Amino acid sequence: MRKYVVIVVLALVIMSGIGVYLVFDPLESSLFPKCPFLLVTGYKCPGCGSQRVLHSLLQGDLIAAFKYNALMVLFLPVMAIYGYAEIVRTKKPRLYRCLCSSRVIWSIFVVVIAWWVLRNMFGW
Ligand SMILES: [Zn+2]
Repeated sequence: MRKYVVIVVLALVIMSGIGVYLVFDPLESSLFPKCPFLLVTGYKCPGCGSQRVLHSLLQGDLIAAFKYNALMVLFLPVMAIYGYAEIVRTKKPRLYRCLCSSRVIWSIFVVVIAWWVLRNMFGW
């Protein structure tokens, strides 16, 4: 019973978040938090533009989403795979172990760090 309550609450939170990002544009609304790293340093963090990506994707504008944060757009399927692996963790432990192996985690870490450096060097 508790498991279903958690699932329903989680689904409501996710749907509410989707609704907020669907209706409000993070560029024009003060409703959304600004990136503290960008505010303090003037440099973009790897996640800068993620809110605009969500809004753009929900509006069906893949090109705008890609311009705001290409890595975020490319990683959304990866995040979905991780979510799926977590859900089927007991049924498919091999998938979960593979995705959580140090080789995969380090690879993702290197990609994120490279993205962080490159986007600040080239203004992406
Ligand atoms: Zn940021």
